[in-house]
Amino acid sequence: MKQIVILSGKGGTGKTTVSSAFAKLLQDKITIDCDVDAANLYLLLKPQSRNQFEYFGGKKASINPELCTQCGLCESVCRFDALHNYVIDPLSCEGCGFCYRVCPDDAIEFTETKSGNYFECNLIDDSKFYYAKLLPGEGNSGKLVSEIKKSALTNVGENIKWVIVDGPPGIGCPVNASLSGADFVVIVTEPTQSGIHDLKRLIELLKTFSIKCGIVINKYDLNEKQTLQITAYAGKENIPVLGYLPFDKDYIEAIKANKTIVEYSSKAAKDIENIWSKVEFFMDISKN
Ligand code: SF4
Ligand code: SF4
Repeated sequence: MKQIVILSGKGGTGKTTVSSAFAKLLQDKITIDCDVDAANLYLLLKPQSRNQFEYFGGKKASINPELCTQCGLCESVCRFDALHNYVIDPLSCEGCGFCYRVCPDDAIEFTETKSGNYFECNLIDDSKFYYAKLLPGEGNSGKLVSEIKKSALTNVGENIKWVIVDGPPGIGCPVNASLSGADFVVIVTEPTQSGIHDLKRLIELLKTFSIKCGIVINKYDLNEKQTLQITAYAGKENIPVLGYLPFDKDYIEAIKANKTIVEYSSKAAKDIENIWSKVEFFMDISKN
């Protein structure tokens, strides 16, 4: 079983388009949407059924007014300005537990709170698909990414050859969590200044994990000068460019129709198949 993580360094580069296309093309796979702050892969993959699980991401404090003697100590120690007039705002409470520890009257409760849900689904080809949703205002998305991956990768059948992970944007904690166990990373970028900047940051991160990667340049024809810059940079870093996807209104129409691009356009399907062949090729090379 090989795990392929699709990352972008920044949002809006076409990462989910590529992830959903891989998920549609491949057999014997599990698909995981690790973009738990803005899950949207399910809109394209359209799960047939789903089981829901609760996610408890941390603790929050609350004051029991019957025990509180209004000494004010808790408000003075809270660095997150979550306490006012002996009431804790749950949206501002970061769950550090400081107030709970200092309260002289044991008037503060510090309990696990639900931070979101994750879902185990069946796709139309009978493969498993996992995604999650944080509740508004909740953090700790890295922990949720770890939890959803753990759930997805426990008791995996012997027939499973691929794990396709649609990773979160950026280079923060949820990205690190999504990389756990990765065999190869597909980076989807675009030929813009910010695209190149975020691509470089992501590649530096991958070097620290020693994970092999390849690059897909999306909408490469919108700025061919910057596409050349990315290609040159990839060559210098010894990273393969797996493919160049053009700007094509079919990609937009596919999303509007809630379809993966491989269902919508045979030309794009061919491009994605070629990219996947290169993923397999470079993953094999990196083993040797
Ligand atoms: S520290 Fe405890 S007793 Fe003092 S105000 Fe806060 S909750 Fe009330
Ligand atoms: S747990 Fe921490 S963040 Fe929450 S109210 Fe207490 S001191 Fe403030």
